Amino acid sequence: MKKSSLKLLVLMLAFIYLPFNAFSWGMLGHRITGEIADQYLSKKARKAIKEILGNESIAMTSNWADFIKSDKSYDYLSPWHYVNLPENLARTDLNNFLSHEKGDNIYNKLIEVLEVLKTEKVDMEKRKLALRMVVHLMGDLHQPMHTARKEDLGGNRVNLFWFGEKTNLHRVWDEHLIEYQQLSYSEYTKAINFPTLSQFVSWQNASIEDMVYESYEVVNQIYGGVNAEDKLTYKYNFDWVQTLNQQLLKGGVRLAKVLNDTFK
Ligand SMILES: [Zn+2]
Repeated sequence: MKKSSLKLLVLMLAFIYLPFNAFSWGMLGHRITGEIADQYLSKKARKAIKEILGNESIAMTSNWADFIKSDKSYDYLSPWHYVNLPENLARTDLNNFLSHEKGDNIYNKLIEVLEVLKTEKVDMEKRKLALRMVVHLMGDLHQPMHTARKEDLGGNRVNLFWFGEKTNLHRVWDEHLIEYQQLSYSEYTKAINFPTLSQFVSWQNASIEDMVYESYEVVNQIYGGVNAEDKLTYKYNFDWVQTLNQQLLKGGVRLAKVLNDTFK
């Protein structure tokens, strides 16, 4: 095989592989967010969720939206996991920007599935899908690289090394940083689930637009903190682990709030 055609093949394989890895907190991140939310549910919400999910926990249902990426009939859900935002967007411009984005994205779809959950007449299968998506999308909304830039596919095209392993910025935030902590999702929850009262109140008072913007602000810091081809190791973990943990905790506290509001 010629060198150029080999290059092409590698490139093609990379693109085939990409969708399975792209656009999601890894398994742990979603489960941590789900497990934290579980600690703050109202009685009513807990009962309503049990009717929909049976014995499946919020933590375990959180990964469904990634697992079904292997089933073509769910391809329509792929754009739901993220929203691309332009650079230098001010908070005052965000609502306007989002209201003009008519296509499927995390913002439009989160609002839509929350409405479905509030409508009691909807049949159980649809309610189940809606609940699973709410749990998952609230997680993704707090993985900062899901409100990132279009031109690099949310950091998927920012190539980096993580302790010598070839990777990209999206994956560093999806998986590498979380996995580096060497905790299971329940251990992780125990380790970080200490919001102060003022954090708890202010986080739960945020609108969905506020959540998108906060995530976007973290994205801008993250982009500012790396250059393509950087070799990330201990220092990156040291600099960013607090941000990571806060995003996970915030996501969980807020997931509880939207579920409690939905099942009043
Ligand atoms: Zn996702």
